[in-house]
Amino acid sequence: MEPARTPAARVVRAKSASGNPAVDHAAGAPVVGRFAPSPTGRLHAGNLFAAVMAWCLSHRAGGRMVLRIEDLDPDRSRAAYADAIMRDYEWMGLTWDYGPYWQHGREEAYRAAYERLERAGLVYPCFCSRADLHAASAPHFGEKLVYPGTCRSLTDDERRERAQRKDPSWRLIVPDEDVGFDDMLQGPQRQNLARECGDFVVRRADGAFAYQLAVVLDDAEQGVTQVARGIDLLPSTPQQIHLQSLLGLPHPAYAHFPLMVNETGRRLSKRDHDTSIDELRERFRTPEALLGRMAGASGIMPDDEPIALEDLAREADFAKLGGRISTVWG
Ligand code: GLU
Repeated sequence: MEPARTPAARVVRAKSASGNPAVDHAAGAPVVGRFAPSPTGRLHAGNLFAAVMAWCLSHRAGGRMVLRIEDLDPDRSRAAYADAIMRDYEWMGLTWDYGPYWQHGREEAYRAAYERLERAGLVYPCFCSRADLHAASAPHFGEKLVYPGTCRSLTDDERRERAQRKDPSWRLIVPDEDVGFDDMLQGPQRQNLARECGDFVVRRADGAFAYQLAVVLDDAEQGVTQVARGIDLLPSTPQQIHLQSLLGLPHPAYAHFPLMVNETGRRLSKRDHDTSIDELRERFRTPEALLGRMAGASGIMPDDEPIALEDLAREADFAKLGGRISTVWG
């Protein structure tokens, strides 16, 4: 994904009309942001920073928040983690106005959208191995491969023959077209779907619907108008915008902020135990002290002084989050 140099073929302007007036967020309508945690572990400093940024960007605009628990992958999701995440959000003062919504139980909506794509002749079976391994989780930076279209032009006979040996995953045919959007923090972006992404999985071989499909349907259903998340998900945004266009859904505004990394430059993960929420609560004692440290480390405030969430939303210099310089957290 590169910053735009020339106007994109099809540029979706953040905050602009979606082309679907029934569901569009009219100018002046309230901002609705969202928390979209995956309940696959306890929060760490990186997840928490993402939630704080989403809350602040929405509240700065007088907006509201949706909480959606992204438990699309039943093997990795645990109800106990969802409960713990909600308690930790509450401790931080990260309030939500709508939800919690869940992804389990949404299969019918996902299926209906998938069948529309299928009826439009946009989906084909793919027998490549490991193709859909991660399709139910958000593909974080570095996990995205360009699919070369291997199975796109198999004949019906070849498909039948292969289907006897292996359940296929299902890919969406993407056009050789640029999708562009204005990121609220990173500026204009564009990606050629065919060259930089390739046909992507919308349904796994086990029948589960893929993250990319679920997330656009959920954002639309829940009235989300502003998606604020880590920059590792920026390469997924053109896929999501493309799906929104195909399905006649509104395009939210997008804001991608830099990630928190550890001293070795590696993205924080649930394995970095010293950044786990329990450690952080123990070390900082109050949400204000923890917020102050996050704000100082990321540069959105000039120092690490303890600060209340509402004050951070009002006073933070979010322009400091433009660019991909990660915040070292240690
Ligand atoms: N559930 C995803 C995650 O925790 C976030 C997906 C998104 O923000 O679209 O990484």
